[in-house]
Amino acid sequence: MFKLCSRCVMPDTKPDLYFDAEGVCSACRAYENRKVVDWAARRSELENILSRYRSKDRTNYDCIVPVSGGKDSTYQVIKILQMGLNPLAVTAATCAMSDVGRRNLDNIRNLGVDLIEVRPNVHVRAKMNRIALQQVGDISWPEHVTIFTIPVQVAVRYKVPLIIWGENSQNEYGGPAAAADRPYLDRRWLEEFGGLLGLRVSDLMGLEGLEKKDLIPYTYPSDDEVHSVGVTGLFLGHYIPWDGFTNAVVAQNHGWEAWPKIVEGAALDYENLDNLYHGIHDYFKFLKFGFGRATDHVCMQIRRGRLSREDALEIVRVRDGKFPGTYLDIPLEKILGRIDMRVEDFQKICDRFTNKKIFLTDPKGNLVRDPKGNLFRLDFARQMTADGRQADFFSSVPREVYPLDSERRPS
Ligand SMILES: [Zn+2]
Repeated sequence: MFKLCSRCVMPDTKPDLYFDAEGVCSACRAYENRKVVDWAARRSELENILSRYRSKDRTNYDCIVPVSGGKDSTYQVIKILQMGLNPLAVTAATCAMSDVGRRNLDNIRNLGVDLIEVRPNVHVRAKMNRIALQQVGDISWPEHVTIFTIPVQVAVRYKVPLIIWGENSQNEYGGPAAAADRPYLDRRWLEEFGGLLGLRVSDLMGLEGLEKKDLIPYTYPSDDEVHSVGVTGLFLGHYIPWDGFTNAVVAQNHGWEAWPKIVEGAALDYENLDNLYHGIHDYFKFLKFGFGRATDHVCMQIRRGRLSREDALEIVRVRDGKFPGTYLDIPLEKILGRIDMRVEDFQKICDRFTNKKIFLTDPKGNLVRDPKGNLFRLDFARQMTADGRQADFFSSVPREVYPLDSERRPS
């Protein structure tokens, strides 16, 4: 059952993550491979590509840079400007933009670029958020779609063939080995790795009255349109060593703002500040696979030698997968109000997507929660029982949920 990588703390329940004979996960191995990469060679490869795509008479943009306003896209824009390019920044608006996210997006223009922000119809978006949460347990699904469709649409319309994304998530987070080194992004990539969870945009037609015209921002351009402009893409992270912490430091020195404290459910103060739905999105990842944003964060720090595995485990135990009662200090009721959903109904959807093999259940098979609604990951519950913290642990569970009856405690 639930096994953690022997080097980082990623569980084997993570989709597309593989463990080798030494119990090391494919994401750790992929990171190890970065140490033998000839970065100077990659850099000159990048410069060759850029010079091919640069607007010859400077009457058009040299490339498109999809930006959310986060630390990574701020860093991307800074790097691209340093390389002498004239980029068009393109934003696919997040589902529920936070105030700090808005300030950071505005800051991108202060860097000295033109920016197009595509802001889809909020009524359509709310329907899609609700449908995706109910059907595939991912409120952020529409955003995952537009991150890919909108920059490609703008590339087609503005006839700017090169799109420069930041990081190939397959490299940093692991994934099928064949994909880890493919720097170009095409429609097939979107379908395979876009994280669309088997739900297609066309599946939404007719649901809650959604029509074809509502789905324009979510529709990938035709192959003909893509070919006529020659739209292609690359990941800057393939050519330049990529590190979120470094990017945050650079971005902060160019007017970008972190959050004043560690973000709910996370282990850092500089990620996922642009969308109030991130907390819900990450909580569902925890319910389905037993790990949340804090695990992602500490694993990256372990691989970069900044955190011990022991300290990482403690951070994960304390912070990961907490019920998202607030996000960026905004209460859940208010966040759910945007999709016209009550907290009780939200909790029912949570239960439907919870993998009961990963969390503590009572003898009747009901999930055990602490007073704040948090679940107990089985490995931590066992550890707490073993190291004498059992009394504290069970006293934090309300009697009606888990009777304090020694015979009925798990062994
Ligand atoms: Zn690992």
